[in-house]
Amino acid sequence: MECAASTMEEMNETARVLNGIEIASTIKDEVADEVRALKSKGITPGLAVVLVGHVPASEIYVRSKVKACGELGIYSEMHTPPENVTTEEMLALIDQLNSRDEIDGILIQLPLPKHVDTRRLLEAVSPEKDVDGFHPVNAGRLQSGHAGLEPCTPAGVMEILKRSGIPVAGKHAVVLGRSEIVGKPIAMMLLNASSTVTVCHSRTVDLARYTRDADLLVAAIGRPGFVTAEMVKPGATLIDVGINRLTEKADVERFFPGDAERAKHFAERGSTLVGDIEPAAFARSSAYTPVPKGVGALTIAMLMHNTVKAAKARRGK
Ligand code: NAP
Repeated sequence: MECAASTMEEMNETARVLNGIEIASTIKDEVADEVRALKSKGITPGLAVVLVGHVPASEIYVRSKVKACGELGIYSEMHTPPENVTTEEMLALIDQLNSRDEIDGILIQLPLPKHVDTRRLLEAVSPEKDVDGFHPVNAGRLQSGHAGLEPCTPAGVMEILKRSGIPVAGKHAVVLGRSEIVGKPIAMMLLNASSTVTVCHSRTVDLARYTRDADLLVAAIGRPGFVTAEMVKPGATLIDVGINRLTEKADVERFFPGDAERAKHFAERGSTLVGDIEPAAFARSSAYTPVPKGVGALTIAMLMHNTVKAAKARRGK
């Protein structure tokens, strides 16, 4: 395999794979135990999912979330307003869900149609039921170091690090991306965990200068294989949040040279996933999250965790 590492010493043949599926499964088992304990006190945690119109990708995500609720004993219900729903009608629905005691979590599946005021709706969700952790009150709580409900994907990243025994305090963590739902909250969580944090984005000049100095590199920009091997410090921990679908055979061969399993997968499905870090860079790391089966696997587990956390906080248990 071709790799840009300048010496053999920089290669790490034993880079540890941080298996998101296994960690998510452990978290789900813990959540199921908590649900059982709550049920013994007469409380069934409840999640309401709102899915507007017909967005195939959103429908798949929502189905997985509802299925996970069923598996863990969490009550769930779906609301499916039509594509032409108005902001006012959505606000009325959120109001109704806010007022129902048996609903602990409200999830509005994004993206919403353009004519709907997304920000207004997210801010209308009661912060106590904001299981996506997007409400400004919860963002503020995270910033103050007294987290309430935290955004699921960044919280999943922190669980991977913690449960894999990877120290972050005192380490230089470089986060690529500054979105409200991934980059910014991850940066804040790492800062709260005493990392020295650098946040890079599309206007960062000489971005590789920062990534090469990262003990921990978190990539969340949505650009296939953007981080190359030569941008990575040997022995770093690589957390790849990016999920990018490759549909061109040439791209699959470029990112996964000689990988018969990927080639087969691509031939069967017509696409395959790659993260924001080129797979060749993983050999340079001490540990990394693969794509798929890495960070992505944690998001639903953390949503379930948040729903139970909200139930306990709201209902005084
Ligand atoms: P987003 O809202 O599009 O934000 C992308 C961020 O990356 C922005 O801050 C942008 O900078 C930065 N960026 C874009 N191109 C760049 C470049 N060439 N160099 C440096 N920075 C660049 O995306 P997101 O929602 O945060 O998602 C990021 C990735 O994570 C996507 O692949 C998404 O699919 C994935 N994701 C995965 C999960 C999961 O695992 N469950 C959940 C959410 C997202 P500016 O701010 O300067 O524009």
